[in-house]
Amino acid sequence: MKKLTPVRVNDFWHLDELAENNALHKTSFPELRNQKQLLIQAYNDYEVNCGNPWSIADPVISDKLKSGMLSHYSSPPASIDYLDRIKDSSPEVCPMCGGFKPFTRDHILPKSDYQAWAIFSKNLVPACDCNLKRGTALKGDAASQARVLHPYFDEVLSERLLSCKIIPRSNYRWFDLEVIYVDTAHPQIASIKYHTRNIVIKSGIEKWLKGQLGKLKNRPSNVIQVLPRRVRLTQDQLRQSLEDCMDSNDELTGSKNNWLSILCHGLLNSDGMLDWLTERHNATLPTP
Ligand SMILES: [Zn+2]
Repeated sequence: MKKLTPVRVNDFWHLDELAENNALHKTSFPELRNQKQLLIQAYNDYEVNCGNPWSIADPVISDKLKSGMLSHYSSPPASIDYLDRIKDSSPEVCPMCGGFKPFTRDHILPKSDYQAWAIFSKNLVPACDCNLKRGTALKGDAASQARVLHPYFDEVLSERLLSCKIIPRSNYRWFDLEVIYVDTAHPQIASIKYHTRNIVIKSGIEKWLKGQLGKLKNRPSNVIQVLPRRVRLTQDQLRQSLEDCMDSNDELTGSKNNWLSILCHGLLNSDGMLDWLTERHNATLPTP
């Protein structure tokens, strides 16, 4: 999860290029030329409503144009030259789930349901395989207007939204763990929860966090790399190192909701974990 600056694309220029391209007679010509105004209106509507699916009106366009727009996404004509730039615009963290190395793109309004925005740059964000796991999830219940958060428009993504609660079991042999919300009274909590359940949890964060706890047990400095590998630490010093690790990952990824920061926040705030981590750190120092 990350607030991201969109790449600069003149979508209206690209629409014009496609609309006038009669070589595209097998896909969108002349349908796009004839219905271009509907798409211009749809693009403007999207910007004005910040990609909010509860407010945007899906335009009535022909089935031929719908399939034409989908094929322009899957087999882009030469003029559609911005798709790779979008995919590469957040190399450190997936803006949708907070995981690592986004290698594909996700459509905020899923292309199978909203073909009018299939190639609209503001509807396309870099993503990892959370894209597939999300499917077409977009909106929750109407009463709360819950929805997927939008990396280009939702400022709330700049805040620290997620942590984890770690409960040691059987004298720290294993752990129960769940992703939790930093502020359960947040004004946008309905959408934060909807996005987390449908994208972050589905992308496997809890399994990843449990895996990191296993590695911490063996040697904390392998996970929290700011920990000194040969120096004993007090609990206060260890807390400081965890805070440094979290700050540095927030900064490196440009996101307070990257998975490593979520782990650090959980370790700092779950009962007994600082005691345990200090003991593990000091017990696993190499013998001089
Ligand atoms: Zn992802």
